[in-house]
Amino acid sequence: MKKHSVIIRDATDLPQAIAEIFKLLGPTDLARRSVFVKPNILRAARVQECVVTDPRLISETVSFLQGAGAQVMVGDNPMPDQRSSSEGEIAGYCGIVDAAGNTYRNIGRYPKKMRKPNNLLREFYVSREILDCDLLVSLPKYKSHELTTMTLAVKNHFGIIPGGFKPAIHALFPRIDDFSRVIVEIYETRPPDVIIVDCMEVIDAQGKRYRPGMIIGGDNGHAVDYACALMAGIDPLRVPTVRVAREQGLFAPEMIEYNGAFRRIHGFSLPFVFPFRNSIVEFVSRILYRIWMGRVPVIDADLCSGCRSCENVCPPRAIKGKCIDYSKCIKCYCCLEVCPRRAIRIRYKLV
Ligand code: SF4
Ligand code: SF4
Repeated sequence: MKKHSVIIRDATDLPQAIAEIFKLLGPTDLARRSVFVKPNILRAARVQECVVTDPRLISETVSFLQGAGAQVMVGDNPMPDQRSSSEGEIAGYCGIVDAAGNTYRNIGRYPKKMRKPNNLLREFYVSREILDCDLLVSLPKYKSHELTTMTLAVKNHFGIIPGGFKPAIHALFPRIDDFSRVIVEIYETRPPDVIIVDCMEVIDAQGKRYRPGMIIGGDNGHAVDYACALMAGIDPLRVPTVRVAREQGLFAPEMIEYNGAFRRIHGFSLPFVFPFRNSIVEFVSRILYRIWMGRVPVIDADLCSGCRSCENVCPPRAIKGKCIDYSKCIKCYCCLEVCPRRAIRIRYKLV
């Protein structure tokens, strides 16, 4: 197995940091090559919400690539949003259309059908632009995630699937183990060549803000995610997609070569995990948990603006207005991700 590079750089001089990452990861000759840049445009959000890629990272990456003579395109497939008429409107709200200059494209219009008979997900659609480019650059946001613990390079690739298909995949694979395998399968369809994680300003699971001021580069998304989880102070194998990739031999922690100072983000909290890992207490807790308890989303009616984005994105259509039908809810937590008011919280509930 070849070594995996993980490059950590201070983002104070962002153009310099980006140039160093490209220099270390290659390729050296970018002239006239078609490069697709895929940020994380989850939903219509301002940069200070820390749920989408910082537009400064996008604009500096585009500048670097254009300076090297590349033909650049920027785009993503955000979650469907009741408040926006198009994905371009969502990207515009995030400041990403301006950051991309004239390189921004709608990539949801002409998806290509992929057939993978040996996969868990045997057929799916991928934006054609992702498959056609010479070089694919991924710019994920460093985030916690209720379902997958963290969302980093591999989860960012779920966005190569056009918006409306993503909730359907959640509905088809509600179990976290299956869903994680599917996310890894989608990533491996066309892995990015260069990854640069936006870890400049981040928010943890409790909504606490940190300013690590870093970008993290790499050429293997599983290795990059492993390193990012270490920075959050957890066992990286707690991130289900990292665990799946490790089991499938898609990377090996001992093959990671770090370049730059490794830094912990002290205090960064992640969603619930069982205490007493690998003990009989955990075993018993898990059984009780499955039988009695559910971590369910609850809408705070006082904070809710009635925008219906959650209703629109919910795979099994469990949300009506401000009410959730828990007999239908598959606990995918898409509603949490898309809510612009942070009006949906996780509560423990007898089910
Ligand atoms: S809970 Fe959030 S996403 Fe759902 S309708 Fe209210 S504000 Fe919109
Ligand atoms: S209510 Fe929320 S967590 Fe439950 S299925 Fe719908 S989107 Fe997923």
